[in-house]
Amino acid sequence: MKGTEYKLRFWGVRGTVPTPHADKLRYGGNTVCLSAALTEDEYLILDCGSGLRLLGNALAERKTKGPRRFHIFLSHYHFDHVEGLPFFQPLYDPQSTIALHGFQSGGRSVKEVLERLITPPYFPVNLAGVPAMMQYVNTDGLPLPYGDIRVSCLPLRHPNGSLSYRLEHGDRRIVFATDHEHGDEATDKALIRFSEGADYLIYDATYIPGEYESLRRGWGHSTWYAAVRTARAAGVKTLVLFHHHPDHTDQDLEEILRVAREELPATEIAREGMELPF
Ligand SMILES: [Zn+2]
Ligand SMILES: [Zn+2]
Repeated sequence: MKGTEYKLRFWGVRGTVPTPHADKLRYGGNTVCLSAALTEDEYLILDCGSGLRLLGNALAERKTKGPRRFHIFLSHYHFDHVEGLPFFQPLYDPQSTIALHGFQSGGRSVKEVLERLITPPYFPVNLAGVPAMMQYVNTDGLPLPYGDIRVSCLPLRHPNGSLSYRLEHGDRRIVFATDHEHGDEATDKALIRFSEGADYLIYDATYIPGEYESLRRGWGHSTWYAAVRTARAAGVKTLVLFHHHPDHTDQDLEEILRVAREELPATEIAREGMELPF
């Protein structure tokens, strides 16, 4: 018998900076955010890019109001992964409990990093004083259960650090591996082990191989080709290309998908509104 099935929804798929341009809207211009509803009132969220605002707005439109709980997991603190947080309506609702999970960075806890960012003069509101009940969790404690989902993490290769998260539900697995540069053998092998047999691997495919080789080595991002190699080595069922370059148009992304599928037919490309069942 099948138990509960969850859906991981993409609210933002773009890397680096939002792209509200007509030639990029089929796949979407919001930066990184995904969520899964555990119940009507409890949510698991991956990253707080500008897509997070849309999740907050969607919840605000619901008829049922009451206490809600959010478990947010941050891959890292670059703008495209946190810029949506101050625009997330549940921050301003005293009935919300928001637990933010992240790693220590430069000797600062996740709480210190975010409170130093969401404060005047960068934003008119102090994160430290928002009406929601805020909780901060150092990711050292993972893996942890949230409902019947188990969350674990793995460090990736990225300037200032980045974490991959794996969601496991029964025998279903999704690995979220954004902001990662391939090429360090130990990290690549660890990611392959971490992704072994996953139903979905969501992977940083910022560059096409030519862009990467000529200009972007050391910038902390990867290519669709490295994505395919990782997915194949890990025996992943479906690869999802993610963290689209802000200059790549819908047409470019379709071309990337076409060539990637020639190498690995079970490849998809993330777009806003897409949902992965698990
Ligand atoms: Zn990013
Ligand atoms: Zn980054």
